Amino acid sequence: MSESNNIKVSVRVRPLLPREKEASEHPKCLISMPNPTKTVLQLPKPLGVDTGRGLTEDDKSRTYLFDECIWSFDQSDSNYTDNKKYYQQTGPDLLSHLFEGYNVCLLAYGQTSSGKTYTMMGNRTEPGIIPLLIKDILKQMEICVNEKINCELRFSYMEIYNEQVRDLLGDNNSQKCKVREHPQTGPYVENVQEHLVRDYSHFLSLLNKGNHSRSTATTSMNDKSSRSHAIITLTLKQTRFESHSEDDLGDAAEEMISNIKLVDLAGSERLGKTKLYGQQERIKEGTLINKSLTVLGRCIGLLAGKDTSKSGTVVVPYRESILTYILKENLSGNSKTCMIFCVSPVDFEETHQTLNYANEVK
Ligand code: ADP
Ligand code: MG
Repeated sequence: MSESNNIKVSVRVRPLLPREKEASEHPKCLISMPNPTKTVLQLPKPLGVDTGRGLTEDDKSRTYLFDECIWSFDQSDSNYTDNKKYYQQTGPDLLSHLFEGYNVCLLAYGQTSSGKTYTMMGNRTEPGIIPLLIKDILKQMEICVNEKINCELRFSYMEIYNEQVRDLLGDNNSQKCKVREHPQTGPYVENVQEHLVRDYSHFLSLLNKGNHSRSTATTSMNDKSSRSHAIITLTLKQTRFESHSEDDLGDAAEEMISNIKLVDLAGSERLGKTKLYGQQERIKEGTLINKSLTVLGRCIGLLAGKDTSKSGTVVVPYRESILTYILKENLSGNSKTCMIFCVSPVDFEETHQTLNYANEVK
């Protein structure tokens, strides 16, 4: 991530799932990543008409350029990137920004079963970005103590479902939380529990508790597809002490608060695909998900300098969805945003949609 550009766009392609391997004798990977910033998507049918001179590459594929293309299709490949390797490319930058006192945002976008949760949370054998990041934050906090900086880390976990916020760690699971705006510090969610993280195992227990109460519903694409946006907030408070002597901490001289928001977005698939006909509730969910993802794309696109109007001040429409409103202070100003687009190697329609969306925001 360069100094001048605070938004990084990454694309990650996952391996074939067992059901995809079974569905066809020779399942073909539609994606190739010829270098670390280039993604090529094969078209199902060549577009051009063969005039005898042969079809060009453009007739057969679409090429996209991103900040980072992550190849996780084939484990036997030397370019294969697992969660740990991906974290090493991205995490340290986010971590240092957080400790410098700035806000940070990491979002995972993609259709259901494209690998968002795998990237963010991982599993028992391959932890994802969130647990790896927490480990490093806790390590860095210990280093800070030696430099007479006292650190406190707080954890909250909420979800946005149908444009309403719910605290996944709250005592009353069905209680909706209101979003308010503080004149200095910006939008915040009222009454969300913030837990002081004691150590790594305490973090894991909080994470598991939140995951357990996350809203899921059955769709034909994935049995437990997530129809909500999940937001983890880690708030870091650093207090620097004025030291008078070696063994005396002294008086608190300066306080700095920053936070990182880690967002596992709801599935980006469109309604037709999931065969939701007649299911009113699912249709409402889908419409609100699409709207919030569209607004998110517009906000990030504008922040990334995609404004073509040249009319002076750019108005970023944060307030048009609860998601972007909550993320406002993590997307704007000196914040750093990293958006990872997860794609399936076989599902042309959805992969195409995701790559086009990514192309719009970069
Ligand atoms: P999503 O959260 O986008 O719905 P998941 O993260 O649940 O998707 O991934 C769907 C399936 O694909 C899971 O079984 C997961 O283990 C597998 N998977 C996703 N990404 C990877 C990856 N990079 N490497 C290996 N398996 C993956
Ligand atoms: Mg998921």
